[in-house]
Amino acid sequence: MSLFNRGIMGYLFSEIDSISVKRLKRLQTERLRRQIDRVWHQVPYYRKTLHESGIHPKDIRSPEDLFKLPFTKKIALRDNYPFALFAIPLKEVIRLHCSSGTTGKPIVVGYSKKDIKVFAEVVARSLWAAGCRPGMKLQNAYGYGLFTGGLGLHYGAEKLGMTVIPISGGATEKQLMLLNDFKSDAICCTPSYALTLAEELKKRQIDVLSLKLQYAVLGAEPWTESTRSSVQAALNVKATNIYGLSEIIGPGVSQEDVDERGTGSYIWEDHFYPEIVDRNTGEPVKQGNAGVLVLTTLTKEAMPIFRYWTNDITFLYKDKHGKRNFIKMGPIAGRADDMLIIRGINLFHTQVEAMLNGLTAFSQNYQLVVTKNRAHDEVEVKVEINSGLFNEYLKNLAASEIMTSEKIVQACKMLEKKLKDNIGLSLNVKIEEPGTIPRSEGGKLNRILDLRQTQNG
Ligand code: ADP
Repeated sequence: MSLFNRGIMGYLFSEIDSISVKRLKRLQTERLRRQIDRVWHQVPYYRKTLHESGIHPKDIRSPEDLFKLPFTKKIALRDNYPFALFAIPLKEVIRLHCSSGTTGKPIVVGYSKKDIKVFAEVVARSLWAAGCRPGMKLQNAYGYGLFTGGLGLHYGAEKLGMTVIPISGGATEKQLMLLNDFKSDAICCTPSYALTLAEELKKRQIDVLSLKLQYAVLGAEPWTESTRSSVQAALNVKATNIYGLSEIIGPGVSQEDVDERGTGSYIWEDHFYPEIVDRNTGEPVKQGNAGVLVLTTLTKEAMPIFRYWTNDITFLYKDKHGKRNFIKMGPIAGRADDMLIIRGINLFHTQVEAMLNGLTAFSQNYQLVVTKNRAHDEVEVKVEINSGLFNEYLKNLAASEIMTSEKIVQACKMLEKKLKDNIGLSLNVKIEEPGTIPRSEGGKLNRILDLRQTQNG
């Protein structure tokens, strides 16, 4: 069912936006049944796993039955590298993408003609929810290539009827030039790269009001309200979250509505069925509780995937005040394997980032440095002091040779206290000079510097 073949965009989007719970459920059930029958016949891996679990496709009659199936983990994609999970002949696969993969071979994903259409549709829907409209110019600063971000946003924006500027990630100088010369209405990129652009604007004393940016569609890595405030203020935009992963389709699995910022992202449930499970037991958790996001594709032709263990930690909830009937997911706290356990307490870097909110003494640039102290892991929080405060400190230093700045000491203490009060950990905060902590150069930024391996060696 295409939602795009009847002329006026607003009307078409409002149709899917106002899908009833009953109709959604019916659609999901029909699609799931078709999907499971297909993989049973077409994908030896699934036939074998179902067989081993004593399950026949007829046991999966509705999404509520999905729990009977085992999870599909990343290792299954690696073991079946490159094409063994495809459910259609290779000659019908019209595009291949890869997710970066940390070690060894990458993960390969394939798309049929229809998959590419669905991909464009969910991204177009996401851009619409983000505030973008036909005729607006979108500066697409997601990386093009094997990464799904660039081409994913590109096709979706074209589908919506936007003018796409396919600049890709990086080339900051040129980004700023085009933002200014083309008067782009919207930009999409990683949140950390949006911070880089904001910082460069300031450095070059470019008046943000001379640009005409209105919207930023940010994703591909975890981010918090703290980053949102900074990006919105510095770029004079409304910034929303877009989430996705190559294994499922790419960006456009879920999207935050521009008028509901901060309340979670709608999952396009007519194509992707979500569950949240306990990261240790795999058992479902109560709605609203955090766990691992598990996703099942309902319409994928080339590479359907059942109960994919995303490793992303979040929660699901039904927003009674939201515009749509789709379920919402909270922001991603982090990937389960990026979670640090410090003196028995779980820690994601996003928790530290959230604490920077409202502390004007610091920039949004921070890094967690993890080391091992005997059997225990230690974390040092490196944060950059903002340039105004740093310059003031330098001036004082030159004038009176005072080696410390009371304001900086106070700011540091305040952050340490906030961390202790909210996370329950006494973390060592190390103040750095402006411009010294790594920034995004166009893509995802790793906020954790893990020195534990090098210490062992
Ligand atoms: P990889 O980064 O593993 O190479 P992808 O490029 O497909 O693979 O990225 C998907 C992953 O990126 C997700 O599983 C998630 O960890 C992260 N991600 C994507 N969008 C967001 C988002 N909006 N918020 C937080 N994390 C995100």
